[in-house]
Amino acid sequence: MSKVTQANKQNAVLKNTVVHKYGGSSVADPEKIMNIAKKITARIKSGSKVVVVVSAMGKTTDNLIKLAKQVNENPDPRELDMLMVTGEQVSAALLSMALQKLRIKSKSLNAYQANIQTLGKFTEAKIKNFDRAKLLGLLQSYDAIVVTGFQGVNPEGEITTLGRGGSDTSAVALAAALGVPCEIYSDVAGIYTTDPKLYPQAKKISQITYDEMLELAASGAKVLHSRSVEVAKRFNIKIYCGSSFSTEKGSYVVNEDMIIEKTVVTGLSAMDNQTQVYIKKLPVDYSLVREVFKKFALAGLNIDMISIIDNGTDLALSFTIVEDKKKYLQTAIKRALKDLRDYDIEYNSGYVKVSVVGVGMKTNVGVAADFFGALKNIPIRLVTTSEIIISCLVEAKYKHDAVTALAKKFKL
Ligand code: ADP
Ligand code: ASP
Ligand code: MG
Repeated sequence: MSKVTQANKQNAVLKNTVVHKYGGSSVADPEKIMNIAKKITARIKSGSKVVVVVSAMGKTTDNLIKLAKQVNENPDPRELDMLMVTGEQVSAALLSMALQKLRIKSKSLNAYQANIQTLGKFTEAKIKNFDRAKLLGLLQSYDAIVVTGFQGVNPEGEITTLGRGGSDTSAVALAAALGVPCEIYSDVAGIYTTDPKLYPQAKKISQITYDEMLELAASGAKVLHSRSVEVAKRFNIKIYCGSSFSTEKGSYVVNEDMIIEKTVVTGLSAMDNQTQVYIKKLPVDYSLVREVFKKFALAGLNIDMISIIDNGTDLALSFTIVEDKKKYLQTAIKRALKDLRDYDIEYNSGYVKVSVVGVGMKTNVGVAADFFGALKNIPIRLVTTSEIIISCLVEAKYKHDAVTALAKKFKL
């Protein structure tokens, strides 16, 4: 076949191709897998080819981690990745079998077979590339290709995972590589103003900007993995989020210029398991501060809500980190401050970060006043703001009250 005819054929296939992603709760048991297979079959019958990305069944990944900790409370990240990726391989194979039962030409692929290339650390690798040609070739012969989410292979040939919730990112990266739309299905019917499990009165959002979704996801709205939104924004991939179990209309994540009516506050999210770290009595020496943050970066630690208080005689540094990274943080701090004898350090765990997000904050004043007004009876530990987000740190016992008060105040 000439190169031109082959390219034309591939373009014709891609015009009708869509990426679907189904999360753990959508493929939790054989019955649900069969129902998803029916949903995909209907799409194929209407003329599409579907590249399906799946997560592990139900709570499989949590259970695999628990299992690992039963044999070694500090599992080697490489071995943990070896273990965790098995979950997605099970669901991909089962979904492909279910599709074949419905007479769909389907094939499942793991990260090796799909040649999903990653870079970076075990348990939090990033996708670098996909074998577009391979998928394009397979799409000529198959109507469904089921790919394991959450995983890739690094340049050393090691299998790596993308961080919890990472199969959303697998799906968006695949859609970006193929240049096709991405539809992400889960147990909720779209993106809500806040987690409907936390605040049942939350409203469904029909359109949200990449930047807003990025802030919400990075501050705890696990409906989308935040890297998936980053990739979608970079490659201008429109994401649709909908329900795996119904045909109710979902939500779109789009570019800001597509939004007709900009609300001041679009959504609210909460992130559990936050530890506030307070390093006191440091000398007023900013090269030391740089060293501290350099060591954090080298250790791959994500530091949040940073504040520095310089009273002229000494420095205090305060920031937050997720609780399970405390051990790595302690090592990094020791390394950075190894030449210092006299400093105090305090760790306060059991906090929640509550954030409100909206592009309209850029042009509207008074959001901070409303924010603090709503939280008047709740002690606030730390506050950070940027152009489209205000976040505060509160004790976990105030989470429900803070979420409810802010949701009411901003009519979410
Ligand atoms: P999946 O396993 O399909 O990837 P997740 O559990 O990762 O699904 O994400 C879906 C969950 O995200 C929902 O069940 C919901 O509780 C939670 N969630 C958090 N914030 C939001 C939000 N703003 N809108 C919708 N769902 C949200
Ligand atoms: N199964 C993985 C997890 O539980 C990936 C995902 O769900 O996206 O984190
Ligand atoms: Mg998820």
